[in-house]
This record gives sequence, C-alpha cells and structure tokens, in this order.
Amino acid sequence: MSKPYKLSAFAGKIIAVDGPAGAGKSTTARLLAARLGYIYLDTGAMYRAVTLFALKNNILPEDGVALTETARKLTIEFRVEGNINKVYLNGADVTYLIRTPEVTKAVSAVSAHAGVREALVRLQREIGKKGNVVAEGRDTTSVVFPEADLKIYLDASIAERARRRVLDFARMNLPTTVEEQTKELTRRDALDSGRSASPLMRTGDAIVVDTTNLSIEEQVDRIIKLAKSRFIKL
Ligand code: C5P
Repeated sequence: MSKPYKLSAFAGKIIAVDGPAGAGKSTTARLLAARLGYIYLDTGAMYRAVTLFALKNNILPEDGVALTETARKLTIEFRVEGNINKVYLNGADVTYLIRTPEVTKAVSAVSAHAGVREALVRLQREIGKKGNVVAEGRDTTSVVFPEADLKIYLDASIAERARRRVLDFARMNLPTTVEEQTKELTRRDALDSGRSASPLMRTGDAIVVDTTNLSIEEQVDRIIKLAKSRFIKL
C-alpha cells in the first residue's frame, strides 16, 4: 500500500466522509464543500471512471494487472461547471456515463484490486495538497487521509438507502424497485466491507452521523457544526 504521510504535507483542512452507498455522502459532501468553499473530492467517481474505461475496452473486472495499468495511466479530472462537479476521463466528460447501472454493478470488483487503489489514492492525495478539501468515499477516513481534521461516518438504514437509490435512478429515467436496490446495496456493502484492500470501515475517531431521518440540510448543518467546534473560526 502507499507510504504513510504527514498531514502537514497538506495546505488546508481535510474533512473525510465515508460510509456505504446511499447514505447520502455525495450530496452532503458536495454541499458541504460549496458552503465552506472547499474542494469536493468524490473518490467513488474515480473508481467509476476506471470501471467505465475497463468496460469500454473489454478489460475484465477480475484482471487486476490490466486494471492497475489502466488506473496508472488514465487522466481523471474534476471541473466545477455551474454547480455541477464534472468528471473528465482522458479529456472527455463522463459525469453521467459513470453512473449507469453497468458501471455501478462492476465498480466494487474493480476497486477491490490493491494496485488500482494505490494508483487512485496517489491522485487523491495530490488533490488533497491543493487546499481545503471535503473527501468522500469508502477509505478516505482510514487510508487516504488517516489524519484528517474531521472524520465522518455517514450511515442510514438499508431500507432508506434503497429508497434513495430508486429516486436516483428515476431521475436518470431508469425504473427499478426497492427490492432490487436492497439486493444490489447488500451485495455492494458486502464486497466493499469484506475485501482485503482498504475495506469500508468505521475508524475509531470517526463521528457517526445516521442520516435515516435527516434531511440533506440537517446533515450538512450537523457536519458544519462539528467542523466549527473543531477548527473553523467565524
Ligand atoms: O460512492 P460510489 O457509490 O460512487 O462508489 C462506487 C464504488 O467505488 C463503491 O461501491 C466502492 O466499491 C468503490 N469505492 C471505493 N473506495 C472509495 C470510493 C469508492 O472502493 N474511496
């Protein structure tokens, strides 16, 4: 795995948010970054971009060697356009293509390869050096930024997470059911938490925020309050 590092290598503050799919990480982290004027780092989007490239180029999700090579050579960039966090893969806008059910189905297998993770963690830390950052994913509290200034573990009940996923897919005109999404989330949770390379876990110093009964605004407010109590001076 990547070498240990000192947080003093980073210019600004790091807020790291981990948790299972559907807990509200992306929306919360994006709004949090916008409210604080921080950079939003969506690490899941990077694993999705590698997966999209693999699917398009007939690289199997089991082929760790080819996937590691791929993750090392791809150019993945984030550009804020309007209030959308656009994702570019080798210069092409893949913001929406990385969210399709095909990519979502394959991404956990792709991200389980240690070599893929090593390549992407390196990029994530480079972005971390650019200033104040809100990072979100599965291992931002444990592996990418273990000395983050604030660590949040965002969680929600499986029923609520499945309900949210159905709404997400409906927005993309992709009908699905709560039952189908419960199955898919359970499968992804097991892969993400059970893998040997950087599994999803709650670190001892992460604060758990259960979003089952919270609105997005309440989630963001709660985390901002925590950040203020620790390091944001107003
Ligand atoms: O957060 P999102 O659902 O976009 O992440 C997609 C997948 O990417 C996760 O299910 C997980 O397999 C992988 N991932 C990861 N480590 C991260 C972020 C995402 O393994 N830090």
